[in-house]
Amino acid sequence: MEVVTLHNMPQQTGWIEVICGCMYSGKTEELIRRLRRAQIAKQNVVIFKPAIDTRYSNDHIVSHNTQSLSSTVVKNPQEILGLSKDAQVIGIDEAQFFSADITQIAETLANQGKRVIIAGLDQDYRGIPFEPVPQLLAIAEYITKTLAICVVCGNPADRTQRITSQKDRVVVGAKDVYEARCRRCHQVPTE
Ligand code: ADP
Ligand code: ZN
Repeated sequence: MEVVTLHNMPQQTGWIEVICGCMYSGKTEELIRRLRRAQIAKQNVVIFKPAIDTRYSNDHIVSHNTQSLSSTVVKNPQEILGLSKDAQVIGIDEAQFFSADITQIAETLANQGKRVIIAGLDQDYRGIPFEPVPQLLAIAEYITKTLAICVVCGNPADRTQRITSQKDRVVVGAKDVYEARCRRCHQVPTE
């Protein structure tokens, strides 16, 4: 997998990095990897996740392979501005569960000279672009798309198959609700 290595970090400016992909593709793992390295570099790091996603923990972001980093739950993306005043690096997980305001918040933080790293689903369970992630991709300097493994055929997978019959766009769940599938094996549910 190609990842942003940023050997030449931008100087005297902030920027936005987006990590996108389907479920189980390693977005949270990659976010944790980058944030850990920033902590090792003794940078002031803060991490946020939306209130809707407390599947594994209230106060940590947790990857499907159980790596974790402590984080703050926020209901409204506006809260992130006040909580990031002293931060040099801001990590945000599950961006698709935030309102559209998150785009302006990320922009404001980057304009303040901060490094903003955001992970989120780029498509919903039907394969439709999942706002606000497409908007974040458009304003980001660095973009990484992670792929999972299709559980049906073993191909690289970029779709999230919902295996229940729920029709709401947002249904929070893991292995009992979703699996990773490739384009060929992904089935769009009929309305
Ligand atoms: P995401 O944040 O994209 O949902 P995570 O970083 O939480 O992904 O989890 C990635 C981990 O999920 C992988 O390292 C692997 O251990 C596990 N995993 C489970 N199912 C799959 C799959 N179908 N393809 C790839 N990884 C999977
Ligand atoms: Zn497949």
